[in-house]
Amino acid sequence: MDVDGMDLETKALLLSVGSVQLAGPHEDGRPSTAGPGAGGQSVFFQSGSRLVRLSVVESSPLHLISRGDGVALIKGGLEVARGRLVKPLLHCPDQAYITVSERCIFDCKFCAVPKLMGGIKSKEAVVQMVDEAARTGRLKAISLTSGVELSPQAEAEKVAGIVRDLGRFQVPVGVSISPFPGVNRILKDAGADEVKYNLECVDPKLFARVCPGISYQEIMDALEEAVSIFGRNRVFTNIIIGLGESDDLLRRSIDELALMGVIPVLRAVFAHPLREGEVQMDRPSAQRLLDLARYLKRALEKNGLDGGEALTGCYRCTGCDLAPGVDL
Ligand code: SF4
Repeated sequence: MDVDGMDLETKALLLSVGSVQLAGPHEDGRPSTAGPGAGGQSVFFQSGSRLVRLSVVESSPLHLISRGDGVALIKGGLEVARGRLVKPLLHCPDQAYITVSERCIFDCKFCAVPKLMGGIKSKEAVVQMVDEAARTGRLKAISLTSGVELSPQAEAEKVAGIVRDLGRFQVPVGVSISPFPGVNRILKDAGADEVKYNLECVDPKLFARVCPGISYQEIMDALEEAVSIFGRNRVFTNIIIGLGESDDLLRRSIDELALMGVIPVLRAVFAHPLREGEVQMDRPSAQRLLDLARYLKRALEKNGLDGGEALTGCYRCTGCDLAPGVDL
């Protein structure tokens, strides 16, 4: 184990497990409305410069125990890493990461949001949440994500209205919503700094099955246009690993996206219990995550892109992924 904290291989191992058992009550474990494991509790474990987010699951092979003035992660009776727990601000450290509409008209087979059918936050509620986060002195960025309540167009107008009101906090604002032609201009004019439109599945055949009613090409077109409007290192897309796609297809997509100026977030699939049996979901091994992250790093460097430049969102957080430019 690296005395300066966990090394890349250890973070990959923790991500491949993705969950942890808490030895006792930890007030740092909090329910989340965004990202993998929406609706569940999670903790942020920092070791050296690397951070990992783990869902709290009673049956996890990883155990979190107190050790000295910090904590340690134990697997099979052996200490895997030592570090400390980091308190999320809103969903993750240093960011107000807020889900505006916690419900969605779409039905992506890996996503819990359409099943959870949560609430819709008003502009006033979001601004108040950010205001409270800002008063802690820890607010470094704002990330807004949202399901689709009525239509992608109506959602973009709603979120754009909120972004306009968040300018007063003078921190970068990132937005992740369902795209459509014209969405980039709406968000740019509202004051957004970065955008993320999630492709989720790079296998076109699989995509049609796991994301019914959504256009793969429309997402690609919006990503391409976003680079011309927001610039390089400002446009991101989540790609799920573990839905049955091949590594060859993943590498080809990474190359295509990096060439466009888009930074992929390689996200290990989270087999949400609310989606059990609906689609194949196999958590990738540590080695697969490492190989793909190293491939992504080379592709980003070849295209002059740097994940370390991210101002908001998952590349700024890195809790759920191996992030080139930050972790490697
Ligand atoms: S990496 Fe993204 S989804 Fe994961 S905890 Fe951080 S902000 Fe949330």
